[in-house]
This record gives sequence, structure tokens and C-alpha cells, in this order.
Amino acid sequence: MSRRGGFARLLRGAKWVLPAAVVLAWLLTGLSQMVQWSVMSATPPRPHMQPTITGGQTPRVARDETHFMFGQGGVYLRRMMVLTESFDATRADANSRKLAWATINSQFPGSAPLQWQVLGGGLTFAVRMWVLAIVVTAIWAAAAWWASRIVPPGHCLRCRYDLQSTTRDTEGRVLCPECGTLQATWRGDLATSGN
Ligand SMILES: [Zn+2]
Repeated sequence: MSRRGGFARLLRGAKWVLPAAVVLAWLLTGLSQMVQWSVMSATPPRPHMQPTITGGQTPRVARDETHFMFGQGGVYLRRMMVLTESFDATRADANSRKLAWATINSQFPGSAPLQWQVLGGGLTFAVRMWVLAIVVTAIWAAAAWWASRIVPPGHCLRCRYDLQSTTRDTEGRVLCPECGTLQATWRGDLATSGN
């Protein structure tokens, strides 16, 4: 199979995958307005940091957290150092999630498509879901346009007229009977009758 054939096959395979991805992307765009979902991973407290007493009450310890968040119209990635209550990990996790969502809107006002901030050694990266949806839609449109340009084997390179029953002229050339284009690079099979 030629590379071109393989590429055409790839495009045919993408015929349903890409439209499905487009629909999914726009569904997620809508969904991201309605739900707040986050996955958090935290490194163990830094060994060199001693628990500190804040407000004279609760011992706290610093640790790094990474949040992947979906909601409020976007996808957010947060990496930050937080002071957490060292002996109650469950409550600390819930608190830091709440804190992360609470600060997203204040960190990223407006609706800029891509935003990032470096704060206190942490990084927050935000991309709006509608941006991803438009990117996926553009990829689908480009693939569909490209697929539409592929001429099926045995057809005119210009007007796609079916040349299966066309014969070579007296000089051995293949001319499209429909539009007259010389099929310089045409390599399909020709009808042998009439020669
Ligand atoms: Zn033609």
C-alpha cells in the first residue's frame, strides 16, 4: 500500500472519530459550566519543613499539591505549595480543593482563552473549554476538506470524471473527455478495448 493510500485510509478511519470528538468537545464545553470536578495529587510534606504553629492553635505543614480541575467553563492545572493540617489529610484535601475552586475565578477574571500564572513557586494554567472545542472542530474541518480533495483511483485529477472506460489517444496520452485535462500523473487502469 502506498503512503498516499495509507493516508487516505487514515482519513476514512477518522470519518467518524473526528465528528464524534467535535460533538464530545462541545458537550464538555456545556458540561464544564455545570459541574466542578477535580483530581488532586499531593506530595508528602517536605521533610525539611517542621510543623509550624499558626494562630497559636493548629500545627501545619507545607506540601506540594497538583490539582487537575474541570469546571467553571475551563480546564485548570494548578501546582502550588499549601500549608495543610498535617494530621488530617482527608480534611486537608477537601479544604484545598475548595480553596482551589474559590480562587480560580479571582485568578482568572474575564474569558481570555489561555491564561497562566506563576505564584509563589506554583503554576496555574487555564484553558477555556470553548477554545479546545474550536480547535477540535477546526481539525475536523481541515481533515474533511483534505479528504474531499483526494481523487478516487481511475478518475480525472481535475473534475473527477470516471475514466475507467476512457482509452488513450493516438499519442498514447490520457485526456479527460469531460474537461480535456491531460492526465499527466494518472496511473489508473485504462480500458484496453479500441487499441
Ligand atoms: Zn476532467
